[in-house]
Amino acid sequence: CGIVGYVGQRDALDIVIEALRRMEYRGYDSAGVAILDGHGHTAIEKKAGRLENLDKQIATVGRQSLAGTTGIGHTRWATHGQPTDRNAHPHAGSDGSIAVVHNGIIENYAVLRAELEASGVEFSSDTDTETAVHLVEREYTSGPTAGDFVASAYAALRRLEGAFTLVFTHSFHPGTIVAARRSTPLVVGVGDGEMFLSSDVTAFIEHTREAVELGQDQVVVITADSYTITDFDGQPSAGKPFHIDWDL
Ligand code: GLU
Repeated sequence: CGIVGYVGQRDALDIVIEALRRMEYRGYDSAGVAILDGHGHTAIEKKAGRLENLDKQIATVGRQSLAGTTGIGHTRWATHGQPTDRNAHPHAGSDGSIAVVHNGIIENYAVLRAELEASGVEFSSDTDTETAVHLVEREYTSGPTAGDFVASAYAALRRLEGAFTLVFTHSFHPGTIVAARRSTPLVVGVGDGEMFLSSDVTAFIEHTREAVELGQDQVVVITADSYTITDFDGQPSAGKPFHIDWDL
């Protein structure tokens, strides 16, 4: 029900957790984070229940295992699969390098899941979401866009039907986040040497007041210093910039 992304110079974990906290009012049943260490590894922690449960788990594994300046976070309102630890987001591909968080519903997930399972992919959750991350992984490992994270994400996104906000990261491409929106909200927060993504501007209002709202069927690729918006075919497209001039 809430989505966050961060790329910048600061510790992503604090920013992502704080942003999730600001979106708690929306209601949720599970929460999770994925943090990229910048050296080829993505650490995921996720937990059913309140954010406090996730906080406790992070304290148990140790915050140092979640050090990094690129991260994504999620609060879930389950639609497909029970509100359990394993169904909580982020979800990862089979080799753990690609992570995804998702709000909404992928309507054609059953067809996609059957297709992926037929080609040998093993699923580790009951969510519709997990199909998206395996699709990106398949494109990245063996599609015409192999090795190109951003192009692989576009290729996968074009297969999806439904209403969704999706956010992808890749361990080998830290500093880049790909996000898409179809019928559910997504806003970019433009900072100084850092970028934020969220379903809700309240998530990053303490860090920046410059924002860009994505329109229907748009994809955005963010780095610490840039954001690039296109349609699902990769054609340049304009978001709607605005200044947040209210206080919480
Ligand atoms: N359909 C996804 C799930 O059930 C995402 C739900 C949400 O919007 O939080 O996991």
